Amino acid sequence: MTSFHPLDALRTTPGAKRPRRLRRTAALRDLVRETTLQPDDFVYPLFVVPGEGVRRPVPSMPGVDQLSVDRLAGEAQELDALGVKAVLLFGIPGAKDPHGMESFAEDGVVQQAIRALKDASPELVVATDVCLCEYTDHGHCGLLDAQGYVLNDETLEVLGRIAVSHGEAGADVVAPSGMIDGMVGAIRGALDGEGLNGVAILSYAVKYASAFYGPFREAAEGAPTFGDRRSHQMDPGNAREALREAALDVEEGADALLVKPALGYLDVVRSVRERFPEVPLAAYNVSGELAMVKAAAANGWLDERAVVLEVLTGIRRAGADLVVTYHAKDAAAWLQSGR
Ligand SMILES: [Zn+2]
Repeated sequence: MTSFHPLDALRTTPGAKRPRRLRRTAALRDLVRETTLQPDDFVYPLFVVPGEGVRRPVPSMPGVDQLSVDRLAGEAQELDALGVKAVLLFGIPGAKDPHGMESFAEDGVVQQAIRALKDASPELVVATDVCLCEYTDHGHCGLLDAQGYVLNDETLEVLGRIAVSHGEAGADVVAPSGMIDGMVGAIRGALDGEGLNGVAILSYAVKYASAFYGPFREAAEGAPTFGDRRSHQMDPGNAREALREAALDVEEGADALLVKPALGYLDVVRSVRERFPEVPLAAYNVSGELAMVKAAAANGWLDERAVVLEVLTGIRRAGADLVVTYHAKDAAAWLQSGR
């Protein structure tokens, strides 16, 4: 008679199947790693301001500065040396008005920035944010009706004009971020109408109304003066709706899709990746995600380097091909120097 002893389970040996064999040395782990990071997986956001010689730190985003156009050539060289091949431009205009007129001005701050970057580094992929919130005095992502509601179809025309002005200045990619219905189709039509059919559209197909954007609004000076963005950005409780948004943008001609924020929405990154395996997918590791890591690291509570690389790996593992991240330069430097 054998009797069961509670320790028997612990005495069971795994026999031939021992996953730990491949974790024994660093070289073995490198060999079988499924998800890796490269500097060219990253897109580095830049905030461009009017003026000369400006490098103004954003207090809630340590390491991130607002830069004037004349500072961009140096930035492009630095990114090139680090192997980071793409930037995403946000402009802070000299003057704001209800209609965001500077957003599509030929000599607007972003249009100047595109030319400066392309002059300095023709190979650099220059992507641009296409939205109105940095340019309107009310800080909303489109034109408003008398009640302060963002008008959809009237806004589409302006988005088309912005995208065309960016394309004409030399942008490789335009990235509409306002979650306005039909924005991808309208922008594609406007670009093609001006012979800019080589300009790609990276659509913020799935952008949630998130509290993690707080620090960004300080950097981009685009906080709404009243109300919020819940009438156009997605509700954080919705995942199936993300697939509907992504499907519409693919149908309208999006060349690549973006999910924002990243960390709280990795399930959404995964489901968009699985539903649209043929479309490149980006995720935006947003300002609040940066701020949390920076604050904890500054307190000595987290190892910044290890945590950042783990976070970026996690976002890629969830299914993102590209990660828009403020950590791009640091992460690229750490990858260059080896883990
Ligand atoms: Zn916006």
